[in-house]
Amino acid sequence: MDNNNQIIIITGASSGIGKATALKLASEGFKVVLTARREEKLDDIQTQIEKSGGQALAVAADVTKIDELKNVVEKAKSKFGTVTGLVNNAGLMPLSFIEKFKTEEWDTMVDVNIKGVLNGLTAVLPELIKNKGGNIINISSSAAHRYFPGGAVYCATKSAVKMLSEGLRQELAPKYGINVTSIEPGATDSELMDTITDEDIKEKLKGMKDMTTLEAEDIAEAIYYVLSQPSRVNVNNIYIMPSEQQ
Ligand code: NDP
Repeated sequence: MDNNNQIIIITGASSGIGKATALKLASEGFKVVLTARREEKLDDIQTQIEKSGGQALAVAADVTKIDELKNVVEKAKSKFGTVTGLVNNAGLMPLSFIEKFKTEEWDTMVDVNIKGVLNGLTAVLPELIKNKGGNIINISSSAAHRYFPGGAVYCATKSAVKMLSEGLRQELAPKYGINVTSIEPGATDSELMDTITDEDIKEKLKGMKDMTTLEAEDIAEAIYYVLSQPSRVNVNNIYIMPSEQQ
């Protein structure tokens, strides 16, 4: 599909990978629908895109609230006519050791990282089925392949997203032409670490500060690659690591 005809909803678009993806896709002619909770940041990104000649719509939503995501889809349809794809990107990573029993943080990770993806799917899928095609891109993680300290629950949520993506692909691609991709990045520079409250983990992660990580723009390029393929091509997974990360 021509870039100009693609209308992509991006969750978690207020910072990091989501923001970089919005800017990249808009610069390539896609119409982008930006959603996250921080409305001011979304508005600023919409303005930035429009000043560069791109098309964007900012609609605030919490991915744990299905009605708010359905509202995003309705607003996208009003402005752009339909929706052709979803980047399920919103996520949190409050790492902690299990023995600390940070159960509220576990719940939040399950709610945002897994249920948020299901909510995005529930809101967007009817439109893609109606259109008999489109893309769903779920942002999983290298954490779906490997455990790292304090990551038991986070790794579990990202493994769920990876496996969900494969199930969706098998159910939706052959029947409806809806292609499904799991993107699995390693350490990427963003605000993700800000959600960590466990002091022991913060101490451990100090050692990583010398490592050259991926940039959010590197993941945006991978997402653009997926969306640039002809509809006969389903890119199942992209597992992308910083060269310096073991
Ligand atoms: P950021 O913290 O920069 O971005 C996270 C985004 O998620 C923000 O835009 C935030 O927006 C949004 N978000 C969080 N909670 C909610 C919610 N309840 N409802 C709606 N939006 C929400 O981190 P990244 O860009 O790194 O993270 C993006 C994705 O990439 C995540 O799924 C993360 O797990 C994944 N990932 C990141 C890696 C990394 O090393 N950075 C590596 C592998 C995967 P707001 O606060 O405005 O709601």
